[in-house]
Amino acid sequence: MRDFAVLLKENGLKATFQRVNILEVIEKHGHMSVEDIYEEVTKVHPSLSLATIYKNIILMQENAILTEVPIAGKKSKYELAKADHMHFICTECGTVEDKMCLDQTDVIFHQLSEEKHFKLKQRQVNLYGICEKCQIKEAS
Ligand SMILES: [Zn+2]
Ligand SMILES: [Zn+2]
Repeated sequence: MRDFAVLLKENGLKATFQRVNILEVIEKHGHMSVEDIYEEVTKVHPSLSLATIYKNIILMQENAILTEVPIAGKKSKYELAKADHMHFICTECGTVEDKMCLDQTDVIFHQLSEEKHFKLKQRQVNLYGICEKCQIKEAS
């Protein structure tokens, strides 16, 4: 498990027990909504309120520790900030799958940015559709 206390300090935040716990939960489960995080964290800290957890998540997002993943028509999910990658997002069940960007996709992003005289810093590519499991469910 990563040392989240160090990560928090490196990004200018105090390493509180709650923040470390939120990060541990997200590391374990991947992409999570605030409600999912709340449910897991309160197993350990039953007194924590949803508002407190939400406030901490936003703060950690602002400090580049967490990344928000918008889910079309549903509540956003959050993940640990990592190298730029793509998401396959199922609009049926809300599952988010990571996929590293291919070199080809990268080339296209840089070309398009250059044409626009746009200084590309970060990419988040979200592909929305229906995952394999949900397709099978639909067919049966
Ligand atoms: Zn699905
Ligand atoms: Zn991701």
